[in-house]
Amino acid sequence: MSLLEVDGLTKTFGGLIAVDDFSLSVERGEIVGLIGPNGSGKSTVFNCIMGLYDVTDGTVRFDGEDITDDATHEVVNKGLSRVSQESNPIDSMSVAGNIELFTLPNSIVSFHGGASEAEIREYAARIDIEDELDQMPGELPHADVRRLEIAKALATEPELLLLDEPFAGMNQAEIAELSAQIERFREEGMTMVVVDHNMGGLMDLVDRVVVLNNGDFLAAGTPEEIAENQRVQEAYLAGEGL
Ligand code: ADP
Ligand code: MG
Repeated sequence: MSLLEVDGLTKTFGGLIAVDDFSLSVERGEIVGLIGPNGSGKSTVFNCIMGLYDVTDGTVRFDGEDITDDATHEVVNKGLSRVSQESNPIDSMSVAGNIELFTLPNSIVSFHGGASEAEIREYAARIDIEDELDQMPGELPHADVRRLEIAKALATEPELLLLDEPFAGMNQAEIAELSAQIERFREEGMTMVVVDHNMGGLMDLVDRVVVLNNGDFLAAGTPEEIAENQRVQEAYLAGEGL
């Protein structure tokens, strides 16, 4: 049984079909890349999986259980977490406080009733921001703010982590570093779906790639196959390139 099965997912906004009959299966231990030009529906797929958008049609199953349209905190409690493409730390709280918030019983992502200082340090250490725990988010460089967002997701102890554009705004060195950290999560037993608008950071990271275009499934294959796929190249011609 696949860990995640998205079947026939459709999401419309008024007359706009953002995602059209899209299916995706993710096996335990895999790192799957989900790419597509801007506006192709990648974030909408994540929002539907996480219960942030009600689906128009289709089902989402996690570990064999139907979680379609479940409330977000229920989805998180079952073992899914998502790092959104926008960072949204609370600027008046320290890095540690921002992470702790994701462990509190009354937070939107209700989990295990608040973490100890040692547990918060451990979540931070898994993504190498343990030295920044006392800093305020506004003091951090962009790459560390993104790491904080990942630490918040780790604090819910997910089995499946959805990463939306984790490499955006990073330079090559930062991409390589984050990529190695994501690899480490896999060794810790996590399964991941990584969204990017192109192949940039994904080439050496993911096992396979699924391509969305205008809400439609376009192609799937190994990173090498996708990089050479003519139809994928064409879909990107109008944009900034694969
Ligand atoms: P991507 O993440 O691939 O860039 P999105 O999933 O953000 O694409 O968007 C897909 C399409 O759905 C876009 O046309 C976008 O404008 C639209 N869309 C996404 N979310 C909403 C929303 N909450 N309301 C209206 N339209 C939306
Ligand atoms: Mg997006």
